Amino acid sequence: MLREDNSVFSTHPPETEMKIVHTIEELHAAVRDLKNITLVPTMGNLHDGHISLMRLAKQQGGAVVASVFVNRLQFGPNEDFDTYPRTFQADADKLEKAGVDVMFAPSEKDMYPVPQEYRVTPPDSLANILEGYFRPGFFNGVATVVMKLFCAVRPDNAIFGKKDYQQLMIIRRMVEQFALPIKIIAAEIHRGENGLAMSSRNGYLSKEELAEAPNLYKTLKVAVDKVRAGNKDIDALEKEAMDTLKARGWKPDYVTICRQYNLQKPTAEELAKGEPLVILVAATIGSTRLIDNIEI
Ligand code: AMP
Repeated sequence: MLREDNSVFSTHPPETEMKIVHTIEELHAAVRDLKNITLVPTMGNLHDGHISLMRLAKQQGGAVVASVFVNRLQFGPNEDFDTYPRTFQADADKLEKAGVDVMFAPSEKDMYPVPQEYRVTPPDSLANILEGYFRPGFFNGVATVVMKLFCAVRPDNAIFGKKDYQQLMIIRRMVEQFALPIKIIAAEIHRGENGLAMSSRNGYLSKEELAEAPNLYKTLKVAVDKVRAGNKDIDALEKEAMDTLKARGWKPDYVTICRQYNLQKPTAEELAKGEPLVILVAATIGSTRLIDNIEI
């Protein structure tokens, strides 16, 4: 159709509809003509934290692909794989509203048509500490599914939240070591007004636990403020934070202050020189295990 000035315009509204695909084959067809793809992997049950990643993905200027897949490989036998909330329609609505171009929501059979026997095994020094120590095999499952998603989507960029700090670092190293042509972008932790980091697992909390949960962040913040004020006795600060949490009824797995780069303990020299640090925590309230961290 011609406008008055003779320029052409379409009688159809612009293509804004999000494509939803389930198989890797459908995915390949959906991304074939997309340019500058940013991938945001998730396990669904999307909250504002996830949506902040979608916004960051949109800011990259190209197409956005979001995956929603609860990955059995990264769950331990006694973890919440079966009960992990699956909210497909609500997730699809949120992703579409956020302007995502393609939602990849494979079933287990779509993702693992035969048992996934080839695995990506990150080194013990990164993967068997902290989360990996308390959740054996977790990062093997994460690295394997992320590698598979990277191969299936072939994105230019991929976004991971700092909420899962060790995961972000392990994926960064994986990309470096395999020379994958993908830029990894870190998203800041999205918190509620009370400081509680948004998490799908917050939905498991009772009213009382939800009221207590922000103290996880507050306890970290107390330690962070002390480090920033010049306190270098990180062992004592970790213990103090563990004791605070225990006294409040938490079962902490760890509180650790370590180097951002490789999550190892800083030397006294590095501490003196102002090495970038991060404090990380994992603790259970009731029967829900939460993680959080703050960069220092
Ligand atoms: P998940 O669905 O828990 O696997 O999370 C998918 C992605 O969203 C991961 O990269 C997480 O680190 C990120 N994410 C989850 N919660 C938050 C949050 N509160 N702030 C920022 N990123 C988050």
